[in-house]
Amino acid sequence: MVPGNDARALRVMWVDSHCHLDADTWPLGPDAVLARARAAGVVGFVVVGVGGVAAARGAVDLATRNGDVWAVVGVHPHDAAQYAAMCPEIVPLLGVERVVGVGETGLDYHYDHAPRVDQHTAFRASIAEARQAKLPIVVHTRSAAADTLAILTEEDAREVGGVIHCFSEDRAFARSALDLGFYLSFSGIVTFRNAAAIRDVAAWAPSDRVLIETDSPYLAPEPFRGRTCEPAYVVHTARRIAELRGMTLDRFADLTMENTARLFGLPLGRMTGTAHPA
Ligand SMILES: [Zn+2]
Ligand SMILES: [Zn+2]
Repeated sequence: MVPGNDARALRVMWVDSHCHLDADTWPLGPDAVLARARAAGVVGFVVVGVGGVAAARGAVDLATRNGDVWAVVGVHPHDAAQYAAMCPEIVPLLGVERVVGVGETGLDYHYDHAPRVDQHTAFRASIAEARQAKLPIVVHTRSAAADTLAILTEEDAREVGGVIHCFSEDRAFARSALDLGFYLSFSGIVTFRNAAAIRDVAAWAPSDRVLIETDSPYLAPEPFRGRTCEPAYVVHTARRIAELRGMTLDRFADLTMENTARLFGLPLGRMTGTAHPA
């Protein structure tokens, strides 16, 4: 039995716009995880390599070995104090063909694992790198809405755009992010009982700016909440959002795929249809 799989979901194709497939979560490697997701209809994976240089290199290697995987690399706000030390090894990876974004960068005032002043410096510098590399920015923001929007604006993030990943803010934040040209990516949180405000945004967001993600290994959607999240589960998050938007699964799958492809410049879309069992 494949997690996240059912007869109806098999007919449609999904892309997980943000997942982590690091060896510390899956010591046997990501191949079986990817295989389960493919069996559930996931045809594209944007793998985010953060937490150190090894994780960034791991994501790039995975993307190089798998035609349906692309990598995003950067310095997580949790590691912002080490930004200057990591930079010389991470920035050159932005030139690798299968690296399609910078991040996840941003601000996390919930955990405050790094001093805020370091988070600001790293976030600003990451936006500058993204502009230099002409790559979109993957933004992580938690309990830091006003400063996140201020820095995105001041650093002209609009020039390359990007995505607010694991969206967990309100409509006012969403409007500002959309005005900056950003996409909104929804995770398994939309299936949680206490997430009405996020569901409101997921139901309302413009169809050409919605993405879906697992943020695997975190935030497994219901009915898997509390387990190690994996990309196969994106189907459950998608089903909930399609329902909220009053859309068929097929149409929602098509639009999230088109949006992800447009944002990251991925060759995904209807042409991948032949690779997937109908
Ligand atoms: Zn994040
Ligand atoms: Zn993440």
